[in-house]
Amino acid sequence: MTISTEPMADITDISDSPGVQNSRLMVSYPENMTDVTNMSIHVMGVLQSTLELEKLIELFDDELAAVVPHDHLSYENKDEAIKYDIAKPARHRSTYGLVLFGKKMGELTISRNCKFVDAEVHKIESLISALIYPLRNALLYKQAVEKAYSDPLTGLNNRAAFDKSIEQEIDLAARHGHTLSLMMLDLDRFKQINDNYGHIVGDAVLKNFADCIMECMRRSDIAFRFGGEEFVVLLRNTQITGAQLLAERMRKKVEEMKFEYNSIKLNVSVSIGLAELKEGEDKLNLIERADTLLYKAKKNGRNRVEVENVD
Ligand code: GH3
Ligand code: MG
Ligand code: MG
Repeated sequence: MTISTEPMADITDISDSPGVQNSRLMVSYPENMTDVTNMSIHVMGVLQSTLELEKLIELFDDELAAVVPHDHLSYENKDEAIKYDIAKPARHRSTYGLVLFGKKMGELTISRNCKFVDAEVHKIESLISALIYPLRNALLYKQAVEKAYSDPLTGLNNRAAFDKSIEQEIDLAARHGHTLSLMMLDLDRFKQINDNYGHIVGDAVLKNFADCIMECMRRSDIAFRFGGEEFVVLLRNTQITGAQLLAERMRKKVEEMKFEYNSIKLNVSVSIGLAELKEGEDKLNLIERADTLLYKAKKNGRNRVEVENVD
């Protein structure tokens, strides 16, 4: 079931699973608005203090807990692949489909082990009304941040995302005593592809190459377009020997692949430099070591993986 909030005071309970106590309930502000309205105004003020979606849901959960005790709250937005659960679902639950001006904004579920009484359901729905606009703003903010960190051509994370992530990953590795490897990849003689077939074909090759990296990676690896035809993969908790196997797999896959654009079929190859984070090392040093190894791969004939010699 899908329901909407339009304007912000109308919400519909879309609960329809076993153990759910409410079904298709249309709610609007009561005749006597004072208490509930004051509560909603207060909550709206609190919720407007953040644009971070996860924080917003946590704040909402805190505010709701103050007026309606509950065991669990979840927010799910399938279109945006978002799901936050605060605690574990309990027996009685109410699920609300959130829609603003015809746009779906996900579902909110609240549950606990004893039934919600009517007055509580009413409070829940009033507070959800206060959530709608801050939620819309947080979703827009999330989309804007994601766009700012993604490369439009390949869909991979961009350089700005890399600058942010590498610091986080080095911190994480140091804190947990994990290893971290950095793979730097550069397409071989890519300028010739542009020169011979034009930039549109060059762009298609870049996109295909990015897809190829994604297919080879594990879930914990993060890929970035570093710039032009250079890419970086950060390999969490991965020693150089494991990284080398992955790099070889990528190199071979690219070598064997036919890059296609309309009727044009091309062979491409990639050179790769690999470095593992040393204790106390900073990001610039790590990047420089991987870059030097990439340069070595180019010098040694391209279509190769180079790793530092371990003494
Ligand atoms: P090498 O094997 O030494 O790496 O040779 P290369 O030709 O790949 O390297 P070079 O640095 O000489 O050329 C890189 C080329 O990548 C030049 C530039 O026009 C092209 N390039 C960079 N960004 C893009 C892009 O977004 N689209 C396209 N089509 N080409 C790009
Ligand atoms: Mg190149
Ligand atoms: Mg290059």
